[in-house]
Amino acid sequence: MTAQKDLATPAVRTISPYVPGKPLSELEREYGIKDSVKLASNENPLGPGALALRAMQQAMTEIGLYPDGNGFELKQALAHHHRCGVERITLGNGSNDLLVLLPEAFLTLGSEAVYSQYCFAIFPIAVQATGATGKMAQAFADDHPMALGHDLDAMARLVNERTRLIYVPNPNNPTGTWVQTKPLKRFIASLPETTLVVVDEAYSEYVSDPSYPNASAWIDEFPNLVVTRTFSKAHGLAGLRVGYSVSSAAVADLLNRVRQPFNVNSIALAAARAALDDREHLKRSAELNAAGMKQVRELLQPLPVRVYPSIGNFVLVDCRRPAGAVYEAMLRQGVIVRPVAGYGLPNHLRITIGSREQNVRMAEALGRALSG
Ligand SMILES: *Cc1c(COP(=O)(O)O)cnc(C)c1O
Repeated sequence: MTAQKDLATPAVRTISPYVPGKPLSELEREYGIKDSVKLASNENPLGPGALALRAMQQAMTEIGLYPDGNGFELKQALAHHHRCGVERITLGNGSNDLLVLLPEAFLTLGSEAVYSQYCFAIFPIAVQATGATGKMAQAFADDHPMALGHDLDAMARLVNERTRLIYVPNPNNPTGTWVQTKPLKRFIASLPETTLVVVDEAYSEYVSDPSYPNASAWIDEFPNLVVTRTFSKAHGLAGLRVGYSVSSAAVADLLNRVRQPFNVNSIALAAARAALDDREHLKRSAELNAAGMKQVRELLQPLPVRVYPSIGNFVLVDCRRPAGAVYEAMLRQGVIVRPVAGYGLPNHLRITIGSREQNVRMAEALGRALSG
């Protein structure tokens, strides 16, 4: 008898599915708790800004119509924002969409993609689904100044004439590590033209470090560069699913062939368009995160854990013991964080920076979990 799972391609059969953060409703249902706190998916504690909310309400009146499949207005606004031509912008159902479309468009059995150990999990999954070979470079060691970060030299050594894609999440999730302007530029310049480099800047709006690059400004120089951005993180629109890429017009044209014709819904188009102009909300979100980051480091200081440096809205924490039990103990106190054993980090948790009150709840729950 044929099991349906044997009908899938060999590549798909070996994929382990992405494990998302536990939703609040699920925790409250399973544990019978109220007032729980979710710091598991790097969401903005402020949620969306007022301009985006108003745009969504207006867009609702036209929800009976298909969205603009070309996303004309949002793409115009993004092109203006990035000072580039509109033909360089591709919209996605979250930037996740683009991270999956890129392998779909550029990889096949026999081609290769390169990424680092501990890199954001979606990309390796998407590579694997195509049947192409994923090659993983060792990350920096735990005692390196950029512990667990991307070693660009190690990544470059894995590139050959079959390499079509390289993935550089900057900063990386779950490690919070980053690559600086000069080494990143040197790395991209060293790659063959036949290799596309995907720089995933999901957290760029949070970053204030002056050595952090805005790779989207380098497309003229590097036609093989693709930069992805999202409205899910600092813009506070994770539930809407909208992101985009900036690339050469040729790459955008190819992505456009494989995307769904209406991959971004009309409410998301309107909200993202409005959010882009809401500098005030972005500023408040970045300021809250910077203050929260400092607060979390101070709150966790007395605990027997190691908190890694991060330029995103989350921190990686080494509990120095199996983190699964710590995660469970925090759940029972109504605090959801993210275990990252699936990344090969069984002693670590990834914790999103929340509001002032949420950070206090989190630190108390972690402290009790560790002493219990
Ligand atoms: C959250 C995240 C994304 C994507 O999120 P979308 O909601 O799909 O836009 C992409 N890359 C990294 C590194 C992330 O952490």
